[in-house]
Amino acid sequence: MKTSTELRELLNRIDHRGYPAYKDTRDAWQFDGYLLSIDHVQGDPFAAPSKVSVHVPGKLAGFPTELYDEKHKRIALQDFLIRQFSRQVQGFTFKAKGSGKSGLLSVSHCGQEILERTACEIDKNGMVIVRMEIGFPANGRTINARELIKILFEFLPGCVKKSLYYRALDAKAVQKNKELSEDQQFIRRELTRLKLAAFVANGSILPRESGISDRPMKNAVPFTSPDSMEVTLELPYHGNLTGMGIKQGITLIVGGGYHGKSTLLKALELGVYNHIAGDGREYVITDDSAMKIRAEDGRSIKQVDISMFINNLPNRKDTVHFCTEDASGSTSQAANVVEAMETGANLLLIDEDTSATNFMIRDELMQRVVHRKSEPITPFIDRVQELSNNHKISTILVAGSSGSYFHKADHIIQMDHYLPKDITDFAKKEAADFPLPEEPVSPATEPSYARTVKSDNSFRKNDRIKIKTQGKDSILINRDAIDLRYVEQLTDTEQLGTLGQLMKYAQLHLFNNQRTLGESAEELWKILEQKGISAICEGSYVPGGFAMPRKQEIYACLNRYRALKL
Ligand code: ADP
Ligand code: MG
Repeated sequence: MKTSTELRELLNRIDHRGYPAYKDTRDAWQFDGYLLSIDHVQGDPFAAPSKVSVHVPGKLAGFPTELYDEKHKRIALQDFLIRQFSRQVQGFTFKAKGSGKSGLLSVSHCGQEILERTACEIDKNGMVIVRMEIGFPANGRTINARELIKILFEFLPGCVKKSLYYRALDAKAVQKNKELSEDQQFIRRELTRLKLAAFVANGSILPRESGISDRPMKNAVPFTSPDSMEVTLELPYHGNLTGMGIKQGITLIVGGGYHGKSTLLKALELGVYNHIAGDGREYVITDDSAMKIRAEDGRSIKQVDISMFINNLPNRKDTVHFCTEDASGSTSQAANVVEAMETGANLLLIDEDTSATNFMIRDELMQRVVHRKSEPITPFIDRVQELSNNHKISTILVAGSSGSYFHKADHIIQMDHYLPKDITDFAKKEAADFPLPEEPVSPATEPSYARTVKSDNSFRKNDRIKIKTQGKDSILINRDAIDLRYVEQLTDTEQLGTLGQLMKYAQLHLFNNQRTLGESAEELWKILEQKGISAICEGSYVPGGFAMPRKQEIYACLNRYRALKL
């Protein structure tokens, strides 16, 4: 093992030389208390910064095993450490001067959700690995090694010492972080046992500060469950926690405009992830297979069996293997439902605001005027009970303007000045006076998911495959864009990075003219779960900057990848 002294000597030697001489620093260097691995050196001061990782052996890091011996605890601790480390590093970034990215120091920026990330990894022996980027300093294109020495020998050791060793951290805060993760995991398990689709604790703060900030709104009205829906859970650490239990089945959320319906639904959508303490949604827990369903005009659809919703199109287009490069509101929403079923989702989340009306309902007058025989669409309202009863897929639906779903819902909540009221009995009584016209609908056949993906010869192992992400909006693979703007449960740009790697991996290793799209998604998920994100990143080192998506979003990404050959 080379020592830090040798690194210092090397840096002194290459000072003032041309930038490529920095390449010699690529190696692992033993510092006091940790290993510094320079994994990749940037080609010039303006290129993407160099990749560096810090490895603290378990014995020295000193985290008690019970802080990371289960997956949810490990992820919570990793998340905690990234946030600590990031806070330290922020104080130092760009303190070193120079051209281009000289002196940039960065680690993953974590939002309100707790995600598994390659930025920090704790292995079974308690070794802590943190991956970061450092812009190696230069003047023009001349190495400024003294500035890098400052970063690596003065700044970084301080950051590491203050944030990656158990003894340097606030033990109480670490413990609290672990306890929250255990409580959240407990609620997730309770959902299944109690046959709940979601749980929203009393006192939760659901609205966000603004359209561009995910922080909790100040002075918001705290959530309070209606008495009839109250459930009290006995959390291992927090103790008794009371809140609204949304039962499996069909739940309708109604209420006047601006009374907080969409805000509740949004919180449920993101309740598939755990949230950090202080977020306001740390005890909003949704069945983690839940999928938001919306209209998505313009998306591409590849051989999806949407026949349970759409049949007999005027152009005789096949709806069992439905394909389009430019879906309508209703066909896109139908495909979104069927694709959600394919992922094994137990819960659909739908907001009328972002739905295609003709997909959701057909009102009485329209039924009288336009006979069913001339209408290709069997609206969602005619399938929602079948999904719940036969497929065990629950629906939580926000509807502000149409009362038709009163007849179908098991539970009806009215949001009134941001507070939920259980109006099931009242609404059902009123609905009885407005019966839905009888239009018998025969049950649908189970959609077929058999669609194999062909291998694509333009992807070859040794070719450079370019992957770029644009925020949470899209992934570019070579020249093909995958539009993910309306996959609303993607919550972090780093998840798109991982999805990009997964698509590449699937192109190179999975698509073989035999595997179906679903089997490919399941295979990708299996690799991620068993081996971690690093298993799908090819190359000599594991890069930071990738976060774990859900299985549902892997399917969603494959389904929107226009260049896939089916
Ligand atoms: P709806 O879907 O019923 O029309 P929204 O959920 O969009 O209503 O909420 C309308 C506004 O009220 C939003 O600006 C939201 O941030 C705010 N809001 C939602 N819930 C609360 C709350 N509990 N306390 C304060 N403001 C809230
Ligand atoms: Mg709304």
